[in-house]
Amino acid sequence: MDHVEPQHRIEILCIGDELLDGRTADRNAFWFGQRLTRTGLRLARATVVHDDPASILDALNEAAGRASFVLVSGGLGPTEDDRTRDVAARWAGTELVEVPEVLVNLEKRYLERGMAFPQTNRRQAMLPRGAEILPNEVGTAPGFRMVTPAVTLAFVPGVPAEFRWFVETHVLGALSSGEGGFCERSWGFFGITESQLAAAVESLQTPELSFHYIPRFPEVKLFVRGQGDPAEAALDRLAGEIMARVGSYLVTEGEESLVERLGRRLVERSWTLATAESCTGGMLGQMITSVSGSSAYYQEGFITYSNRAKMGRLGVPGELLDRCGAVSAEVAAAMAAGARERAAVEVALSVTGIAGPQGGRPDKPVGTVFVGMATPADLYVRELKLYRWDRNQIRTLSAWSALSGLLWSLENRLPEHLMRRV
Ligand code: ATP
Ligand code: MG
Repeated sequence: MDHVEPQHRIEILCIGDELLDGRTADRNAFWFGQRLTRTGLRLARATVVHDDPASILDALNEAAGRASFVLVSGGLGPTEDDRTRDVAARWAGTELVEVPEVLVNLEKRYLERGMAFPQTNRRQAMLPRGAEILPNEVGTAPGFRMVTPAVTLAFVPGVPAEFRWFVETHVLGALSSGEGGFCERSWGFFGITESQLAAAVESLQTPELSFHYIPRFPEVKLFVRGQGDPAEAALDRLAGEIMARVGSYLVTEGEESLVERLGRRLVERSWTLATAESCTGGMLGQMITSVSGSSAYYQEGFITYSNRAKMGRLGVPGELLDRCGAVSAEVAAAMAAGARERAAVEVALSVTGIAGPQGGRPDKPVGTVFVGMATPADLYVRELKLYRWDRNQIRTLSAWSALSGLLWSLENRLPEHLMRRV
C-alpha cells in the first residue's frame, strides 16, 4: 500500500547525547512514525545526532536537502547544552532575536508558580529572526517553524509528552492539509472497549476515510480523517451511521469534553446539580468544576465518606446503612435523594463503592460501586462491577458512570437497562 503523500517527504531529526550513549531510548521518532502512518502519511527517515552544533547543522542541511518537511526534536531547553536554536538560526543564515511576547509568557509562567524568573531562561525567548512561534501550552519552551520554498522545518521540545502535544497541535494538521483540505471528525465513547468499538464501526470504512481508535482512559476516541471534498461528503454520511451503531455509548464529539457537554445540557434545561460522593471523594465535583462557567449549574458537593456523614449531611437513615451497608443500591439512592433535597437542586448524583485494595468482601468485592441519580421525576441506581481495575481506575470509572448517566438522561437516551428506577 502506498501511503506517500506526493507533496510531502517527511523526516525527523532527534537531538540529544542521551539518545546515542545508551541513557535514553528514542521514543519521539518511533511515536511520530506511528502517528504519521495512522494518518496515512509516511516517515521517510529518522536521524539521531549528538548535541554538538556541528552535528546538528550537518544533519539539518542533509535532511533539508532531501525532505519537504523536517521535524526537529529536542535541545530547546534553557541550558547550555540546548543548542538547537542557535543552529537553526545559523542554518537559515540569520541571527537569534529575543521575542518579547515569548519572554512575557515565560515570565508569566514562573510568576504563576510564585517563582522568580531565572535570567538564564531568557535564552528560551530567543528565536531565529523570521521564525513563526509555535506556542507551548503544556510546558515552557515554545517551538518554532521556519519555512522556505523547498522545505518547512518545525522545532519542538524533546520531552516526549510535550513532543506529542506539539505534533498533535502544530504539526499534523499542517502536514495533512494538502489540496482539497484535511477533514476530521472525532467522537468519544464510554462503556465500550476499543475492540468492541472497532468491531461495530469497521465496516463503515471507505477508501477516502481513515479510522483511528485511541483509548484515552476511560474514554475511547474514534478519529475519522480524510482529504478533500469526497472525504468531507463521506464524513457527513458516516456521522449518522456511527450514531446508529454506537450512539448509546457516545459521551463527546470533537473537542468538547464530557463535563463540558453535560454543563451545556444543564444550562439548556436551567437545571442545577449537586453531588454526594463516597469512594470518589470529590472527583465528581472536581471534574464538574474543571469547566469554566460551572457555577451556573453546580450548586454543592457533599463528600460523605463515613456513615456518620451520610446520615448527618444527607439524611441517609441509620437503619438503612445497618441493613443494606454503605455500599448498596439503597444507600446510593438515599444519598442522591438526600443531596437533591438538601441542596435544593433539580438533579443530584451519588457514588458509593469499594475502591480497594482493602475492604472487599465475598458478596461485595473490590470494584463494587453503586451510582445514584435523583431527578425531578425519578430516582435511579446503577450497579457497577469494576472488579479488574485498580483503586484509581475504579474511582475514575465510577465518576464517569455517574456523569455519563446524567448526560444520557438529559439527552433522553439513557438506556432502559443501564440505570434501574427505584
Ligand atoms: P527541556 O526544556 O526539558 O530541556 P528540550 O527541548 O531541551 O526540553 P531535551 O533537553 O533534548 O529537550 O530533552 C528533554 C527530555 O526529553 C530529556 O529527558 C530527554 O532525554 C528526553 N528526550 C528528548 N528527546 C527524546 C526522544 N527522541 N525520545 C525520548 N526521550 C527524549
Ligand atoms: Mg534540554
